[in-house]
Amino acid sequence: MDKNVQTKLIIVIILAIFILLGLLYMFIDSKISDNPKPTPTMEPTIEPTIIPTEEPEPTPTIEVIVDIDSDNSINKLANKEKLISDTYVPELVQVEGTDKKLRPEAADAYLEMVEAAKNENINIILISGYRSYSEQRSLWYTYEEKYGRKYANRMDATPGASEHQLGLAVDLGGADGKCKLYECFENTSTGKWLFENAYKYGYILRYPKGKESVTGIMYSPWHYRYIGKEEAQKVFDSNLTLEEFYQDK
Ligand SMILES: [Zn+2]
Repeated sequence: MDKNVQTKLIIVIILAIFILLGLLYMFIDSKISDNPKPTPTMEPTIEPTIIPTEEPEPTPTIEVIVDIDSDNSINKLANKEKLISDTYVPELVQVEGTDKKLRPEAADAYLEMVEAAKNENINIILISGYRSYSEQRSLWYTYEEKYGRKYANRMDATPGASEHQLGLAVDLGGADGKCKLYECFENTSTGKWLFENAYKYGYILRYPKGKESVTGIMYSPWHYRYIGKEEAQKVFDSNLTLEEFYQDK
């Protein structure tokens, strides 16, 4: 055979091997295409691509940032429908200058708020802080005996529904004692200051005026609840109750 023809033949054979290998590769590739890997650029497969029925679950885009369910969360939503466990006791510290206890975060924020108010000649008094489940229960029964069940229910949260058990609620008054735990507290300088400023320290007015049908508790201008500064700002701006804000009602 001519040497030239022989060389050409070898080249043709090598090319044919390459083409065969290429075809084989494409064939294998199309068979394992169920296992998605970076799509090759030359895609046009004649066969319809089978979409895997079980697609990888998309990671949720809306992350639940605020936990309103755990007793230990500072954003725990507690009311007559969402009770706190009767055995729950938070970590507590004694609030400086008082004989009351609160959760450390709430205590720090409270003291910061008291200091800021003092600079504006407002003297806040802590009437009530943490109450254990049993303290709340006996207090509630005292109210019931004194005012009847219906009124006791409006006045104060039933055992297990009180934010005082979370160590995150405070009942506040003025140093002058004016309208202590009465609705008229809203008109005192302390009441007004709290209404306008408490949210800056993470505290919100928990039982606002005209919202008893939502919160289940009558308007209590002295009762504030710590939920953290960021959330308090949002709730304050929204003009909603915690129930409405977290769309639980
Ligand atoms: Zn209270």
